[in-house]
Amino acid sequence: MEQFDAIVIGASVAGSPTATWLARKGYKVLMVDKATFPRDTNSTHFVWPRGVSYLNRLGVADKITATTPHFTNVEVNIEGIRLRGHVPLADLKKRFMALHGNDHGVVGYYSGPRRFHLDQLLLDNAQENGVDVRLRTHLRGLLMENGRVVGIRAETADGQELLARARVVIGADGRVSSFASMVGAQTTHVREKSTFAYYGYFSGIEKPELVIHKRGRFGTAIFPTNENKHLVLVYGPTAWWSDFSAHPGENFQRIYRYVAPEVAELVARAQRTEPFKAMGRMVAYHRENWGNGWALVGDAGSFKDQWTAMGITHALRDAELISQYLDGYLQGEVSWSDALSAYAGVRMQDYESYWNFVCDGAEMQPYTAEQLSYFKAVSENQDSVNKLIGQIGDTVKFEDSIALDASQLENHGTHFRSFEAAGRQNFDNPFKREPKAEPALA
Ligand SMILES: Cc1cc2nc3c(=O)[nH]c(=O)nc-3n(C[C@H](O)[C@H](O)[C@H](O)COP(=O)(O)OP(=O)(O)OC[C@H]3O[C@@H](n4cnc5c(N)ncnc54)[C@H](O)[C@@H]3O)c2cc1C
Repeated sequence: MEQFDAIVIGASVAGSPTATWLARKGYKVLMVDKATFPRDTNSTHFVWPRGVSYLNRLGVADKITATTPHFTNVEVNIEGIRLRGHVPLADLKKRFMALHGNDHGVVGYYSGPRRFHLDQLLLDNAQENGVDVRLRTHLRGLLMENGRVVGIRAETADGQELLARARVVIGADGRVSSFASMVGAQTTHVREKSTFAYYGYFSGIEKPELVIHKRGRFGTAIFPTNENKHLVLVYGPTAWWSDFSAHPGENFQRIYRYVAPEVAELVARAQRTEPFKAMGRMVAYHRENWGNGWALVGDAGSFKDQWTAMGITHALRDAELISQYLDGYLQGEVSWSDALSAYAGVRMQDYESYWNFVCDGAEMQPYTAEQLSYFKAVSENQDSVNKLIGQIGDTVKFEDSIALDASQLENHGTHFRSFEAAGRQNFDNPFKREPKAEPALA
């Protein structure tokens, strides 16, 4: 039987970096994935500066920016309140220092590489760092000894059985993680309400940077990606998905025209280059992320809605973090349970308030007059705008409140209370279909 220090299931944005970090520390690592690469996924692919910083630490950021546009400024437009700014680099460095003990390779720009490009680069990087990669290899079962996971049983591309042992087996096999089911990882938190997302790729648009618009209960986003194309996305409450999806192409245009008419004009004149993609529902959860001989990283361990585009960045975080804590165990310096409970605790401290923020926002409730006056007051000071962008980009902690002038909040409050009242007609489902009339009885 083949013997490794670590086995990683899944070779995507959580798996390849986890395997790479462990191999760089000198461990013998096997990584299996049932897919062939390059491959695309049903996911948009915006990567915040925090995520690009992880990619830079892995040594692949330059390869991404060689073919994919990258920028520092983001525009978030909420009910006409324009917030354009960047994630503050000093805060980003502080976050890396706190979590990883150093800020090597931290950069302030973001990018939106297609997944067939990003995932392939990460996979190649794992291989270059000595990871033993087996593709078209399906996890089929676990090897257990005295209640501990000690290896895997997998089926290789040519139908052979692969048996491999390791001191730790890590599930990086995504949302529908069969590894999590096999080890019996319990789901500890669930937030049902989410957005639906509908997106496509368009050529012929001249528009740099990421631009996000929110209006009523809808959102839109647009950013440039590879091959001179733009990713163009609309999203709204999942409860409206079934009505939206009755005429999705037409409703995509309707949402864009309502939320961001000037961008809708650009999209209407552009050429769509591939079929639209969609996700109707994205239930958020946390799972127990370690047990006897096993651990979970990326979506296998926790998932949240797409609206802040943070899953890739968090998968990259998990990868670097778990390799730090596993190192102590694999070196024989720390017990298994001390190493893994420390990993889980530090990760949750880094994550919890952001996960709640995403779940709250995914309900797509309209902003209140108080929230809008807050955004308006923030928009009047560039440092405050940058801090807010830093919060959305999971760099500035929500606990670090943004200083504002209280008298301005009061001024704007009066204005937004009448705005809120006038906007109420926009909060109902505009796609609602009339129930079909009952056929008359003969
Ligand atoms: C609509 C949508 C939009 C999104 N937009 C963004 C965005 O803009 N930015 C962002 O940062 N995040 C975004 N996300 C989230 C992001 O896609 C995920 O968080 C990220 O892909 C998680 O990576 P992962 O490696 O954990 O899992 P995955 O990317 O799902 O990879 C899992 C891997 O495991 C393999 N695997 C599965 N089962 C087995 C098995 N039995 N045996 C062997 N291999 C197996 C699969 O083939 C796959 O390669 C979005 C998600 C959705 C749904």
